[in-house]
Amino acid sequence: MDCLREAECKLIHDCHSILINGVSKEDDEEEGAKNALKTVTMMTRQVWVPGPVIVGAGPSGLAAAACLKVKGVPSVILERSGCISSLWQLRTYDRLSLHLPKNFCELPMMPFPHHFPTYPTKEQFIDYLHAYARQFNLSPVFNETVESAEYDCTFGGFWRVKTTTRTEYLCRWLVVATGENAEAVVPGIPGMKEFNKGTVHVLPREMLGRSTFGLSMWLLKWLPVRVVDRFLLFVSRLMLGDTSLIGLHRPSIGPLELKALSGKTPVLDIGTLSKIKSGDIKVRPAIKRMMMDGVEFVDGRVEEFDAVILATGYRSNVPSWLKESELFSEKDGLPRKPFPNGWKGERGLYTVGFSKAGLLGSSKDALRIAQDIDRSWKSISLLDMIGSS
Ligand SMILES: Cc1cc2nc3c(=O)[nH]c(=O)nc-3n(C[C@H](O)[C@H](O)[C@H](O)COP(=O)(O)OP(=O)(O)OC[C@H]3O[C@@H](n4cnc5c(N)ncnc54)[C@H](O)[C@@H]3O)c2cc1C
Repeated sequence: MDCLREAECKLIHDCHSILINGVSKEDDEEEGAKNALKTVTMMTRQVWVPGPVIVGAGPSGLAAAACLKVKGVPSVILERSGCISSLWQLRTYDRLSLHLPKNFCELPMMPFPHHFPTYPTKEQFIDYLHAYARQFNLSPVFNETVESAEYDCTFGGFWRVKTTTRTEYLCRWLVVATGENAEAVVPGIPGMKEFNKGTVHVLPREMLGRSTFGLSMWLLKWLPVRVVDRFLLFVSRLMLGDTSLIGLHRPSIGPLELKALSGKTPVLDIGTLSKIKSGDIKVRPAIKRMMMDGVEFVDGRVEEFDAVILATGYRSNVPSWLKESELFSEKDGLPRKPFPNGWKGERGLYTVGFSKAGLLGSSKDALRIAQDIDRSWKSISLLDMIGSS
């Protein structure tokens, strides 16, 4: 640990300074030259980060970094793409707007501008995220994909975070912010049977003059999930009719309970149902197999198509890189403990944005994480001061 502590003291104000195989750039020139040869052979550079490393520069990673920053805790954000919030910037369609009203989507310490509509557009949300990063002076390290993170018990314990640029970041705290939707789920075709559960909850976006989400959150303060689910399904039936008549069968458990158990989000209808009812969109059962110029469905029907769009969802990629299985389940890459208890693991490990509660959940996680890390950051700084006096 001594070598890490020494390095930390040197680099406390410059977390991007590089330690190559334990030799800092300030070291003796000659020694550096000798080691350069070693470095070329080993091709790994090590970076000691005095504060936390945050993996992912989406809204959750930015929120965590901002909350830490205002407490005076520096962090390094590693982002695999070349921009912040790559999901929103690179992987969403242009006419997208936030699904939930803006007051449920604000990141900590910065409200949306007043002139934004109730459901900000994708463009407005991205502008807001850029303004957020500017406001808190957040500069992620881009094109830095984390390929493994493992806890090393030696020297008092620290995380080794390796990236595809052959860099190893060493840190005491690791914040996982890679999102619930990091990788596309591509079902094996013809093995579609396995993937397709064939059921979905469709709810109107607004009920009784309020957003369905807001109303649900309010009702959950007083009533158990199952009662709120029954209410939502009753009102949906009145407003949308029986969705099974147009091929959209509802799961056997209610929308909020299903979301809590599996993370599967209900679809908020903003016009698709009327397109299905008018026949512009047709609903078919699962695909049995792809054919040269079309598809065979499980009910035996064969139809021709020019293109097939897989709208089969996304999943967490955490099990592919995080060498840890206490906090995260290897099965689905989500925290084992449900919200609000899944944000903290052992040995300085944290998660933000895996609450299945959208941006509101991310904000709550980020505030808790910053508070928790700040406490140990201050106590370590105090120990350092005592040690050096
Ligand atoms: C279409 C859509 C609409 C949504 N609308 C709303 C809404 O209205 N309200 C709401 O509250 N929520 C909404 N959500 C849910 C959620 O809030 C968003 O998905 C949000 O982007 C989640 O932020 P995040 O930072 O947790 O994850 P992401 O935005 O997915 O960010 C994760 C980041 O981690 C990076 N990353 C992943 N793996 C690695 C790696 N190995 N190394 C380095 N970087 C990595 C990714 O490139 C990405 O930039 C919506 C989601 C979608 C898909």
